[in-house]
Amino acid sequence: MRYRAHPFSWVPGAGLRHASTAPNFGLYPDGEEVATLCGGLVAADNSVLAWLWRTCTVCDAEARVLAGMPKAGTR
Ligand SMILES: [Zn+2]
Repeated sequence: MRYRAHPFSWVPGAGLRHASTAPNFGLYPDGEEVATLCGGLVAADNSVLAWLWRTCTVCDAEARVLAGMPKAGTR
């Protein structure tokens, strides 16, 4: 597993940009089922458009906790 700045990785899937703590090698392979911080299971989609999808609000909040950052909108 490569070094990660945070204990999670972003994974576009099912129309939103989610985050996951599942180990990966930089990217989750297309189509790989990944458990997300919001409790879902999505098939990774690394297409250019997928990376422009909106961020899942639940994953965003959970990722900020894991990263030790303030909640969204507080700074
Ligand atoms: Zn999510």
